[in-house]
Amino acid sequence: MPSPLSATRTGPRPADGDRVAIHGDLLDFTAEPAWGETDSAAVRFRPDHWLLVEGGRIVAAQAEPPGEGWTRHDHAGRLILPGFIDTHVHSPQIDVIASYGSELLDWLATHTFPAETRHADVDHAEKAAAYFIDALVAHGTTSAVVFPTVHAHSADALFAAAESRGMRVIAGKVLMDRNAPVDLSDDVATAEREMEALIAKWHGRARLAYAVTVRFAPTSSREQLALAGRVCRADPSLYMQTHVAENRAEVRWVHELFPEARSYLDVYAAVGLLHAKSVFAHGIWLDDTDRAALAAAGAQIAHSPSSNLFLGSGLFGWRGAEAAGVHVSLASDVGGGTSLSMLRNMADAYKIQALAGERLTAWKALHAATRGAALALGLGDEIGSLEPACIADVCVWDEAVGPVATRRASVARTLHERVFAWMTLADERNLVEAFVAGRSLYRRDTSLRSE
Ligand SMILES: [Zn+2]
Repeated sequence: MPSPLSATRTGPRPADGDRVAIHGDLLDFTAEPAWGETDSAAVRFRPDHWLLVEGGRIVAAQAEPPGEGWTRHDHAGRLILPGFIDTHVHSPQIDVIASYGSELLDWLATHTFPAETRHADVDHAEKAAAYFIDALVAHGTTSAVVFPTVHAHSADALFAAAESRGMRVIAGKVLMDRNAPVDLSDDVATAEREMEALIAKWHGRARLAYAVTVRFAPTSSREQLALAGRVCRADPSLYMQTHVAENRAEVRWVHELFPEARSYLDVYAAVGLLHAKSVFAHGIWLDDTDRAALAAAGAQIAHSPSSNLFLGSGLFGWRGAEAAGVHVSLASDVGGGTSLSMLRNMADAYKIQALAGERLTAWKALHAATRGAALALGLGDEIGSLEPACIADVCVWDEAVGPVATRRASVARTLHERVFAWMTLADERNLVEAFVAGRSLYRRDTSLRSE
């Protein structure tokens, strides 16, 4: 596969040595920002600071430049944030991003399944996995919860690509044994064998974790759903990822397939797939009982704004979910989503909340894609903040690229106004450098800055 990213991707760069110092305006969170609060004590903004990284971990942040023995990356005047965490994205769907004309169920059949079928070829799957992981980093996303395909080797390829770059990735082979093309279907015995082998090989290795990956209730038999639940119960350290209540036609179909279930979510809950390590994409068409069940389990909803708008799925009630105690993180859901950029997705999330009568602050959105996602995944000690002892997954951003954004930034009066304009106008072109575990994996051609 040709790589348009290769012009700017630097690849794993020669080791900088053990001690790296990154200079700029540090922005992260020490608590959950409240709704509507533009002046929030949860925001930690440390302009003109040095972030010190030793052995791939953050060790300190200070105003004074470091002494001898530190490799310096001077990004004065630029924003430095924890790398973004995308809690729901499909690695094989880069090829169908921006496909015209359908809602969820038709979109799966017309665009997605044919693209995923091509991953039966091992060579294709390996190249696509490496391309995908590099594309994430080139968009400022340094951790992700990912759906590959039903093919066990597609999960292998994804884990291998993440491991070689030192990235935190949570993934698992997709389970689908009905209502899917024959080429994309497994069966209960094969699924069990392949999951066992993948868990033994990858779960807990490097920065990788396995997620029992049910595509969604309609494409798994009752036996396969029961298997998925058994695997989760046998090892509570495993994650679980699936889709729930994305679109109204899908919800009706689930009610037809599982007439005994109280709700779509209940299909998963009944077999043991609702737990603290569960990541449910979308969750638009849920009721209060569902939200209470999600909260009681400590599960999270991966809100996928650009996908929800693009496929016309619905407007997610973020504030209501949060008021019910549900963890909400942010996701691109590419290829239903239209950008791997979490900033583009935050801008779409703002518009969805505006239509729902709410206003999403930059702080809420950025927190959900960093510290909030990390905590919901049980990884708050590793990712999502610039706290000492966290792994140094750090991105450096230009506040403005292009004349309009530059003009807008120049007249902003408050920190929230500046950062909100950045969140709304920026995309991956604003990304200057991305560090994963203290190693620079991506550096933009800096000439863009003067545009
Ligand atoms: Zn999805």
